[in-house]
Amino acid sequence: MCGIFGMTGHKDAGRLAYLGLYALQHRGEESAGIVTYNRKKAIYYKGMGLVSDVFDAKTVKSFRGDMAVGHVRYSTTGSSLAKNIQPFLVKHKRGYIVIAHNGNLINTIALHDEMEDRGSIFQTTMDSEIIAHLIVRYLNRGFKGSVISALSQLRGAYSVVIMLDGLLIGARDPYGFRPLCLGKLDGAYVLASETCALDLIHAKYIRDVEPGEIVFIDRGDIKSVKPYVKQKSALCIFEYIYFSRPDSNIFCNNVYLTRKRLGRRLAHEYKLDDCDLVMPMPDSGSYAGIGFSQESKLPFEFGMIRNHYVGRTFIQPSQFVRDFRVRVKLNPVKDVLRGKKVVIIEDSIVRGTTSRARVKTLREVGAKEVHMGVSCPPIVSPCYYGIDFPTKRELIASKRTVKQTGDFIGLDSLQYLSLDGMLKSMPLAADKFCTACFTCKYPTKLPKKFSKSILERG
Ligand code: SF4
Repeated sequence: MCGIFGMTGHKDAGRLAYLGLYALQHRGEESAGIVTYNRKKAIYYKGMGLVSDVFDAKTVKSFRGDMAVGHVRYSTTGSSLAKNIQPFLVKHKRGYIVIAHNGNLINTIALHDEMEDRGSIFQTTMDSEIIAHLIVRYLNRGFKGSVISALSQLRGAYSVVIMLDGLLIGARDPYGFRPLCLGKLDGAYVLASETCALDLIHAKYIRDVEPGEIVFIDRGDIKSVKPYVKQKSALCIFEYIYFSRPDSNIFCNNVYLTRKRLGRRLAHEYKLDDCDLVMPMPDSGSYAGIGFSQESKLPFEFGMIRNHYVGRTFIQPSQFVRDFRVRVKLNPVKDVLRGKKVVIIEDSIVRGTTSRARVKTLREVGAKEVHMGVSCPPIVSPCYYGIDFPTKRELIASKRTVKQTGDFIGLDSLQYLSLDGMLKSMPLAADKFCTACFTCKYPTKLPKKFSKSILERG
């Protein structure tokens, strides 16, 4: 997963991109980059780590130009490479090309091989570089024509912000897997993965870029095209369940309220009348936890407190504290939990190992019973469209029954929200969503073989 941002026609575009990336930090903590453009020269600022680590006051002060494109990258296993920091920037005789991409393409290997056979040389393993090569290939069709032709070659999930010389472009794949919204500030257009980035810079939300739409923004002028064959939409339902920020509106609807509805629906399906309290696993389980508490009438408590100031640690945990990795992030409140029958609300279970460690901690501090409600169905299949789930083999629900999963985690009982319950909690019709990680029904054709690296991109 990644967060993307673009702005044109504002004298503070670089600084506002920096703020926008702050708001999108949850979408990627591995690296951050901003390209600013003053209509003559593009300048690249980038680095590994959080936005606050990468850009210092001096850098932010030095931003020049009325255009900027920014990106935060999610840390995926084994691909923590400085050369893969985005946005991707190249200088071409026709001008600068800058690309920030969110999502995973599923035909990367085929495109890559075909381009190498034609003589292209790649510097990175990023999808964005492939998009840049395709744009250059079609530049004789004009800037707009080249983008339309380039994007038509892509399969899979992409929300992109592209800067092509002085033109800012935003696009979503025809299925609309990943979000992208359009806003305006002081007459200047902004593109961002989530509306929370618009809120932070006081930009007004205008609308979402629609699935299959490309918007071309030339300072204050905007043109929209939908050049591709219309597809049945496949919005990523996981954006609502876990990934997006609760204060964002995704696919035109609020995430916080949706998560609360998931929790309410779960309370209908999971009756635990004699429990003492409901507690979330902070922070992502909090909103479903509130919904569950309101519906079940069980009191809501924070049984685990999150430490918001955890950076990287360089000590060997085992030498000091047995369950250091769990406790450094979440510490139990003993006096709330001792002797109590508790229901934990989780947004999802992937491998089950983190939940297992946390449940063990609750038992150690004296919780009498530990039950768990999960605000989505079991995740049984990997995502090929940009969410960094592990392989099928590592997904606990793909190889264990619900009872076996509960036993592995160390629970008195475990219940997932049903597929029907999840879909009925959504603010949009069920057929608008991709649910492949729960159902194995992928909305696109998948290539026969994925290399490991394809799951490392995005
Ligand atoms: S497979 Fe799951 S995580 Fe991936 S796009 Fe579909 S719903 Fe989202």
